[in-house]
Amino acid sequence: MDGDRQRYVVIRDDDLHAYTPIECLETLYRPFLDRLQVVNLSAIPCVDTTVKLKNGLCEEYLIFNPEKTLPLAPISANPTLVDYVLQNSGYQITQHGYTHLTHEFLSRNRRDLAGRLDRGLAELSKAGFKDVCTFIAPQERLSTEALKEVSKRFALISSHWYEWRQLPVAWLPWYVVKRWNNLAHWRAGKTLLVTHQRTLFARNVDYRAALPELKQRLSTHQVVVLPTHWWEFYERDTLRPNRPMIEAYHAVSAYLAERPDVKVIRFNALIDLI
Ligand SMILES: [Zn+2]
Repeated sequence: MDGDRQRYVVIRDDDLHAYTPIECLETLYRPFLDRLQVVNLSAIPCVDTTVKLKNGLCEEYLIFNPEKTLPLAPISANPTLVDYVLQNSGYQITQHGYTHLTHEFLSRNRRDLAGRLDRGLAELSKAGFKDVCTFIAPQERLSTEALKEVSKRFALISSHWYEWRQLPVAWLPWYVVKRWNNLAHWRAGKTLLVTHQRTLFARNVDYRAALPELKQRLSTHQVVVLPTHWWEFYERDTLRPNRPMIEAYHAVSAYLAERPDVKVIRFNALIDLI
């Protein structure tokens, strides 16, 4: 892509699962969808609703009425949500772990990992999400064995970074090339490894800094991945929207639409671009 002035932005939203309230997505993403800006939703194929944080509270993405939940909830258990996502073609699905256990893909058990990947893909396919070729690990952590199994099934992995000690030995020559050329995104065999900078939208991040920082990133990078979580925009338990933060996110959408040199694309498009 050297010399190409075109810029590419990938919107990534993690933790879609069977109990994600549709209104949370609709409030956040209607402006993006109306502008034909792709929103990559990282879907947990079969969410474990019993997962707890260290403080004993349920995971933040499990903000819903607990009485309605299954302990393990396949995404197809919510056909209304699935239909909503499928009917909005601007949403693109990526696979986000299988049940989203803490550090689920730091496991070193290849058989277990392979089972989670295959069952996850099957569950997404059953729900109607086909051609899923991007994988995102819970907490963005992958063991050597996980990298091997994921790369057999997915053309692209998105992660904050890749710990070189966890890379398969056969990947090290490619990693050296990446380091030598200071590449943000790189290939190991047929797998494209995409990285991103810190999130611009989270509860502990000043959303007022998001737009200036995005402009700066676009001045120095051809591909900018913007990860977030839909639940960060809502108060825990009450689901009350954080309006100023949502408006700042929508301002990003409006800004990107004003830039003729910027395309907001799906992850899969990077496979042919990089
Ligand atoms: Zn997650």
